[in-house]
Amino acid sequence: MRFYSTNRDVAPTGLREALFQGQAADRGLYMPETYPSFGPDELEALGDKTYPEIASAILRPFTKDVIDEGRLLALCEDAYDYEVPIEKVTDRRHVLRLDQGPTASFKDFAARMMARWMGELLAEDEQELVILTATSGDTGSAVAHAYHGIDGIRIVVLFPKDEVSTRQRKQMTTLGGNVTTFSVDGKFDDCQALVKRAFADEDLAGIRLSSANSINIGRLLPQSVYYVYAYVRLADAANLEPIVFSVPSGNFGDMMGAVIARKMGVPIERLVIATNENDEVPKFLASGVYQKIEPSRVCISNAMNVGHPSNLARLVDLYGGWMDEKGTLRASPSMEKLRADLFGISITDAETRETIKQAYENHGVILEPHGAVGWAGLQRFVESHSEASSRTMVSVETAHPAKFPEEIRSLIGIDPEVPLSLSGIEDRPETFEPLTVDYEPFRDMLRARFS
Ligand SMILES: *Cc1c(COP(=O)(O)O)cnc(C)c1O
Repeated sequence: MRFYSTNRDVAPTGLREALFQGQAADRGLYMPETYPSFGPDELEALGDKTYPEIASAILRPFTKDVIDEGRLLALCEDAYDYEVPIEKVTDRRHVLRLDQGPTASFKDFAARMMARWMGELLAEDEQELVILTATSGDTGSAVAHAYHGIDGIRIVVLFPKDEVSTRQRKQMTTLGGNVTTFSVDGKFDDCQALVKRAFADEDLAGIRLSSANSINIGRLLPQSVYYVYAYVRLADAANLEPIVFSVPSGNFGDMMGAVIARKMGVPIERLVIATNENDEVPKFLASGVYQKIEPSRVCISNAMNVGHPSNLARLVDLYGGWMDEKGTLRASPSMEKLRADLFGISITDAETRETIKQAYENHGVILEPHGAVGWAGLQRFVESHSEASSRTMVSVETAHPAKFPEEIRSLIGIDPEVPLSLSGIEDRPETFEPLTVDYEPFRDMLRARFS
């Protein structure tokens, strides 16, 4: 399996190179050249398999050139050693809880698989790999945990000083070892801009930089698995019964997982992409005109405060257009096809809070702000598409409610039970260093410490 760049200015490459480079040399994003196709029989056969077994079946076509089949299954079993609950809310509506991993967000799914792939493919005598990661909250901790202790790899995490919760911060700053964290006096987009500049900087050629952000194809492929899993567990796969997914979205990596699942044969009738007040993508879907939001808006679903999602370039590419690395639409995708497949909706903070209350009052379901955006998006979709109300529908819950205790307590008056992975974190000592949004000091620090 080979991977091409969305800028199409470099030759397609194998998984190993795509993984270690992160971004292609032409600053495009890697995409698979082809997609394996799973027919009704194959999907049905996955219905009674475990999550790691489903993961290995779905990921095998992408990895088979570089990772042996038995080894892949072992890696999947090691990465996915936690539950993936599907909570029934009403007869046909469900919440897929992707919050049971070690850092209690869905990012564990991708980070843990990618870390294992990289650890597997890094030869012993190779130069040390430095993974630069900008985080809006959960990527940093998921990546830091996933790679913590992996030989030959060091992790540098940049987070926006005032936009992550204490628990989110502590999950990355209490690890130590091969993990170094920086608190940036700016927004997530500033962190991402610093990281992107470093990747393009010739002066840093002596350091072997790689990314673990959702610009890395290694992040996206594992995120297709839970859509297949939810589908084969809930729907009549033998008859290819269509399903509706609602995905709370920020950088749109999670959504790309669903798009890839559809490419592989999961009959997704509509993909609801629900954003917070950073509504650049719903607006783009409605108007065909794309405009970044700078600076991004601060909302309570903080991991989705993204004013220019990097994965949009991938979506545009799959629908026949071209968006370059600056976010300029060089060729329009088929808006008609995009609108047929996706339903974009922006949810305000007030609606998010109201949704958390109602989900609890009406159904006894505890949602946190990100999952609530997804759930609200699904309600809004059904309101305007009554014909879809008989479908199986799944809203994705991307973080554990215990990551947002103050919000949940003030809205529904209960303290969400703290999962084992988050308990005791308050008391652990933290280490992180300050950074400004200026590039030069950041570059000098990288050179001093990592070359
Ligand atoms: C990262 C994140 C999102 C957004 O996912 P994208 O792939 O960036 O769209 C949503 N919810 C939570 C809890 C997250 O950490």
